[in-house]
Amino acid sequence: MTEYTQKRAAIKKQWPSAGGQVRLAKATVSNLFRYQPTSGSAQRVSLGQFNEVIAIDSAAQTLDVEGLATFETIVANTLPRGYLPPVTPELKHITIGGATVGIGIESTGFRHGFVHDALREAEVLLPGGDIVTCTAENEHADLFHALPNSYGTLGYILRARLALLPARPFVHLRIECFDTPRGYLDAMEQATTRPNIDFVEGLFFEDRRFFLMTGRFTDEVPQVDDILRDHVFYELVQARRDIYLATADYIFRYDPEWFWNIPNTPLYDLFRRHAPRRFRNSGFYTRYAAWKNRLREHMPARPPLMTEPLIQDWEVPWEKAGELVEFCLREVELDGRPWAAVPICTPRQPMLYPLAANQLYFNLGCYCQVPKAVGREPYHYSKIMDRKCFELGGIKMLYSSTFLDPAEFDARFNGAAYRVLKAKYDPRGKAPSLYEKVTVNTV
Ligand SMILES: Cc1cc2nc3c(=O)[nH]c(=O)nc-3n(C[C@H](O)[C@H](O)[C@H](O)COP(=O)(O)OP(=O)(O)OC[C@H]3O[C@@H](n4cnc5c(N)ncnc54)[C@H](O)[C@@H]3O)c2cc1C
Repeated sequence: MTEYTQKRAAIKKQWPSAGGQVRLAKATVSNLFRYQPTSGSAQRVSLGQFNEVIAIDSAAQTLDVEGLATFETIVANTLPRGYLPPVTPELKHITIGGATVGIGIESTGFRHGFVHDALREAEVLLPGGDIVTCTAENEHADLFHALPNSYGTLGYILRARLALLPARPFVHLRIECFDTPRGYLDAMEQATTRPNIDFVEGLFFEDRRFFLMTGRFTDEVPQVDDILRDHVFYELVQARRDIYLATADYIFRYDPEWFWNIPNTPLYDLFRRHAPRRFRNSGFYTRYAAWKNRLREHMPARPPLMTEPLIQDWEVPWEKAGELVEFCLREVELDGRPWAAVPICTPRQPMLYPLAANQLYFNLGCYCQVPKAVGREPYHYSKIMDRKCFELGGIKMLYSSTFLDPAEFDARFNGAAYRVLKAKYDPRGKAPSLYEKVTVNTV
């Protein structure tokens, strides 16, 4: 805590409370994915030093952690002691602060909600430079409840206290394959009611193969599958009925391939098998993809891009899941890559992400480049999926591009409550508004 206190005092002193807008800089990669180029002239201030675990209290089952600590760091500290955060995102470089303000999800969400549902306390550096501690009940409870989906526009989390849950060293996954959405969704819903299941998740393909993965923690396994070198996780799911993984490998199962974004070519296969470990993770791949894009921009005669990103997550009430699945299979071309699905049920309605508490939602995600829709406007698939999601009474995550106009954005993300909070915690507008941040892309 002493080291944290010193860092906190230092940043308070250095924080540019006067002048224009301030924007976060950090040492690790960002897991925002906005289609538009970054804009805005805000002054960058690094909080990259707030990247460590402070303390684990085994008796209280809580973790105190700095806001920019990655889940890789968190898991490396908690798992050897037999604990994990209840919802631990699948990419190693997602941070606790980013996942709290950006609605973090995982295959435990049917039981434990979102990442932020484990938050017990947060110390927040307000855009103007003051630091406040907020909990669900104290004088800053309004800020506490508004952190999820605020994307740093109400302040940056310097320290978080999270609940922890007991974990075991291995995960046994059972895979079932279905050929209709109805049978699949019924089995997925049923799995969420089984007390001996710890993880529920699905992958499905446009050839109408629907894979349901149910997992449980275990102390012993007959074998341990290697998804860093020997196997690609999402391929293994299609080939096996049982998969056995070390718990950390399960948690970060999509990290080595950045979901399914490493191409399946002989060259990349060599890379998979022989590249040093530090290159076999989403952080490296994110940087590599950014470098490739910059290089391409400098090419004098570059061929037109035939693909565009479809990197989005949507949530619809469970009873509308079938309709969303049929829609995406009918309308969107994924070129053989999977859709990802998890059931989610949150115990509290997030103020700025208004889905209902204690109601099961179907989260659908797509994380890849897709062939451009011929004769359509840019980002056609994102736009039609967003529209369908809203039509079904759902909501979309904002870590990626959004195309809503200000009035609709305001209505869908509780703009009225946001304005009150923004005026109270950022009266001088030192941080952009949520709408500015997610549509103009000021990071
Ligand atoms: C390909 C892809 C896959 C994804 N997969 C998952 C997944 O499996 N599970 C999941 O939960 N999420 C997933 N996400 C979403 C991801 O969790 C969010 O984008 C999250 O906000 C990223 O957080 P970060 O730590 O990487 O922070 P950044 O990307 O650096 O920042 C995200 C936003 O949060 C703000 N922010 C960052 N740190 C803080 C802080 N300490 N306090 C306040 N604000 C802060 C930043 O200003 C920024 O607006 C995925 C995103 C992508 C692009």
